[in-house]
Amino acid sequence: MNTQMLAAVLYGKEHLQVEPVAVPEIGDGDVLVRVKAALTCGTDVKVFRRGYHARMIIPPAVFGHELAGDVVKVGSKVARFRVGQRVVAANSAPCLECFYCRRGLENLCEDLLFNNGAYAEFIRIPERIVQRNMYEIPAGVAYQDAALVEPLACVLKGVEETGMREGDNVSVIGLGPIGLMFVRLAKSIGARVIALGRRKTQLDRAAALGADELVQTMDSHDPVGAVHRLTQGRGSDVAIEAVGKPHTWELCVQMVRKGGSVNFFGGCPSDSHVSLDTSRVHYSEITCRASFHHTPAHIRRSLELIRRRVVTAQDFVNREEPLQNLLEVMRHLMSHNGHLKTAIIP
Ligand SMILES: [Zn+2]
Ligand SMILES: [Zn+2]
Repeated sequence: MNTQMLAAVLYGKEHLQVEPVAVPEIGDGDVLVRVKAALTCGTDVKVFRRGYHARMIIPPAVFGHELAGDVVKVGSKVARFRVGQRVVAANSAPCLECFYCRRGLENLCEDLLFNNGAYAEFIRIPERIVQRNMYEIPAGVAYQDAALVEPLACVLKGVEETGMREGDNVSVIGLGPIGLMFVRLAKSIGARVIALGRRKTQLDRAAALGADELVQTMDSHDPVGAVHRLTQGRGSDVAIEAVGKPHTWELCVQMVRKGGSVNFFGGCPSDSHVSLDTSRVHYSEITCRASFHHTPAHIRRSLELIRRRVVTAQDFVNREEPLQNLLEVMRHLMSHNGHLKTAIIP
């Protein structure tokens, strides 16, 4: 086997290079995967713009985290996988021993192990992920569909934590791939979805995924009023923030009915703050929560949704590019929001 491969190396702010590097060595419990599809993600764009991510990636480092591919080598202790299998691996695995893991909050693990390097011909999947967060791709599921498992697991967790039910009015503000996944899952539960977004193309995609009402936030200076008008003046049962801006966090709190629940799903720039009307939160009993990342159980349930084709790449990936074009792809994704995912084919 080759000892060199092509991989994207992140060097810092808006600085990455696709260059030859050594094929990763694997340990006894690790697996080497030939990447067949790696999907771009808003987090990668954020990391590319900033040049690092305190928890997930410190440059120089190989880059990318949503992938599916073929097992090409297994460590001597690996029993669950064999060469030739099609697999999908999550980007992290919890320790299962710390304070948080023991309480079932594995997403908050004090020793969450992150893995990067999906934008490459080969990636090493470390033992802990092999054991806890890697799966064979079910028959009939394409690599690009399977590679959605990680972002979908985050969204699934977010949906569950709002407690949304059939027949609920669910507002989703922010219609990037994540917001659109919320639209899809809320529809699959039988909710009435009010999709709020800036661009017509995004609203069209939300409609195609089943959104019942569309509110263009550029025209409407009053998205909160629009949601109230669409819900007999009550406000929606649930509001999901999938933008990651303090202002839209605040709007979500105003958008829900008495007893409603808000999920601040979009992460805002560090050191940002929001201001909330305390009487509204208190006297209207608004539940505010924020969902972050995923747990192994959510990865499993997410793969099951993909197997049942509740979510497919067709709706979330609209471009394919060779690895060599990654820099151009990242610049393009950075230029403005409103893109779907691009599948990078190494
Ligand atoms: Zn991602
Ligand atoms: Zn832990």
